[in-house]
Amino acid sequence: MDRNAVINQSVRTAVPVDAAHLEKAVSLAVDSVANAGGPFGAVVVTRDGRVIEGNNRVTQDNDPTAHAEVTAIRRACAELGTFDLSGAVLYSSCEPCPMCLASALWARVDAVYFAADRHDAAAAGFDDAVFYDFFAATPETRAAGGVMTVRHERTGSAVAPFDAWRVLETRIDY
Ligand SMILES: [Zn+2]
Repeated sequence: MDRNAVINQSVRTAVPVDAAHLEKAVSLAVDSVANAGGPFGAVVVTRDGRVIEGNNRVTQDNDPTAHAEVTAIRRACAELGTFDLSGAVLYSSCEPCPMCLASALWARVDAVYFAADRHDAAAAGFDDAVFYDFFAATPETRAAGGVMTVRHERTGSAVAPFDAWRVLETRIDY
C-alpha cells in the first residue's frame, strides 16, 4: 500500500457544510440575546436529518455548562435516546469553547462548523480565548497563570473504579 493510500484511509471524509444550518445557529444566538440568554446558538443535524436547536442558557438556568452546543447535544441525545451522535453535524454561531468541543468529541459527532471565532467572543467579554490558552499551556505556565489550580494527587485507591469497571459484565462501553 503506498503512502497516500494510508493517508486517505486515515482522513475521514468531511461532511460538507450547510450554510443554512450555520445561519440558523447565528439567528438562534441573536434570538437568545432578546430572550435573556447568552449570545450563542447551535444546531445539531442528526444522521437521519433531524434538526435540533439549542441556545445558551447559563444565566437562565444557573448552569455554567448550559452553552448552546451542550444544550443542543443534550436535546439531540434525549430525542434520539442515545449517547452516541455518530453521523451528526454540530453547527455553532461561535467557535466552540474547549468544553463544547470536548462534548462534541464525547458525542462522536462527525463535524463541527462555526461562524464567529474565539477572538470575536473575547471582544464581547467572554473567556473562550483565555480557556483555550489554559489548555494549550504546559503545567508550569498553567500554574503561573493563576486561572485555576490543577494537580495530580495520586491516592492508593485511584484505579479502584477502573478495576471495578473492567470486571463489570453488564457495563455499557462508551
Ligand atoms: Zn462552550
